[in-house]
Amino acid sequence: MSDNHLPTAELQALDAAHHMHPFTDSAELARKGARIITSAKGVWLTDSDGEVILDAMAGLWCVNIGYGRQELVDVAARQMLQLPFYNTFFQTSTVPAIMLAKRLAELAPGDLNHVFFNGSGSDSNDTNLRMVRHYWAAKGQPERSIVISRWNGYHGSTMGAASLGGMKGMHAQGGLPIPGIVHIDQPDWWSEGGDMTPEDFGLERARQLETKILELGADKVAAFIAEPVQGAGGVIVPPVTYWPEIQRICKQYGILLIADEVITGFGRTGNWFGCQTMGFTPDIMTCAKGITSGYIPLGASIVSDEIFNTLDAADEFAHGYTYAGHPVACAVALENLRLLDEDGIVERAGSEIAPYLKEKWESLTDHPLVGEAKIVGLMGSIALTPNKATRAKFASPTGTVGYYCRERCFANNLVMRHVGDRMIISPPLIITKAEIDILIDRARLSLDETL
Ligand code: PLP
Repeated sequence: MSDNHLPTAELQALDAAHHMHPFTDSAELARKGARIITSAKGVWLTDSDGEVILDAMAGLWCVNIGYGRQELVDVAARQMLQLPFYNTFFQTSTVPAIMLAKRLAELAPGDLNHVFFNGSGSDSNDTNLRMVRHYWAAKGQPERSIVISRWNGYHGSTMGAASLGGMKGMHAQGGLPIPGIVHIDQPDWWSEGGDMTPEDFGLERARQLETKILELGADKVAAFIAEPVQGAGGVIVPPVTYWPEIQRICKQYGILLIADEVITGFGRTGNWFGCQTMGFTPDIMTCAKGITSGYIPLGASIVSDEIFNTLDAADEFAHGYTYAGHPVACAVALENLRLLDEDGIVERAGSEIAPYLKEKWESLTDHPLVGEAKIVGLMGSIALTPNKATRAKFASPTGTVGYYCRERCFANNLVMRHVGDRMIISPPLIITKAEIDILIDRARLSLDETL
């Protein structure tokens, strides 16, 4: 039963007393009270005070199809009645898991034809970490176990995934990274490119991978993992030279390439997958979030024929989660993918909405606080700076201005996140041009109030 009838203050007090929130300053939460979201439709959220808020983050980068799709609810209800749970362990399967694996194999690029289901993005990356090591062991090269990833990348919160991630604040808690994971620098031209052109900088950062492989010995390196476009790191769009060079290096040294598509998958960058937008083909893709548009948790590792065939011939992969291939989650994912495709949502997002949003988003660069404005498909960021010409940082600790701007957005009924002093968006793919105009107006107003 819903407790929406309780007054906001009472809900906030209960929340602060009993609910431990992820990535949240609990002292501040207790002082201010959480903003409690009670319902949503399309791109609009409603809170417990009846305020209507434009969600420019699609929840947490996941509600690609928008809120309130009855079709997904109906499919979930039907599947719960028919078969609410059965596992896919020990020689059993279910129809939704089979049909979703088939559909993902059709959508995925190259020969990524085989799907290992997981419960989330984090545990998908844990699967990948174990799977690439198992793969190399199966090929008689067990010493090939190091995985290279990037500083300021985000791959999740489990021990493995947070170690793959390059968030130093996360590494500082809980004894991370675990052994066998090393990091190289990110391709963030705005913050770290200095006097280089973006193209030269992209090549320089990609070649750090080659340098690291040679330093470690190619025969020790299992894989490289990265997000096609870094999301949680602040929507860092790499220079165009970056990904082709990464692909060349991985091929040359026989290193497996894992694209973490948890955010960039399912239309977010204007194509079905971010690797298609960035022009490379991975050996493994990590998927979650948009796979079900966030209506229900599900993750997937989609792997190439070569990886599948090698694992198939090897000892059983002793790995799996109870909820892997959960029939309700798979049924919802299938329906979500059908609607994203047959309603033309991914197609329209790429061909019509992305160009309109890009023009409007980039128009914010005339604002005195805005330096770089980057956007690919429907994920964008602006770098706040006191001096555009020198790309200077603020005198206040990093994130102070971004946090203030985010608070102004929230007060203006716009959900936009800040990562340090970058403001980021990732709206539902079904956002209309009129809603984009509202988003930009509220963003501009919030920037004015941050000045
Ligand atoms: N990988 C990427 C690129 C992500 O952005 C995230 C979450 O934001 C994850 C993995 C972790 O996914 P989850 O939160 O579903 O575990």
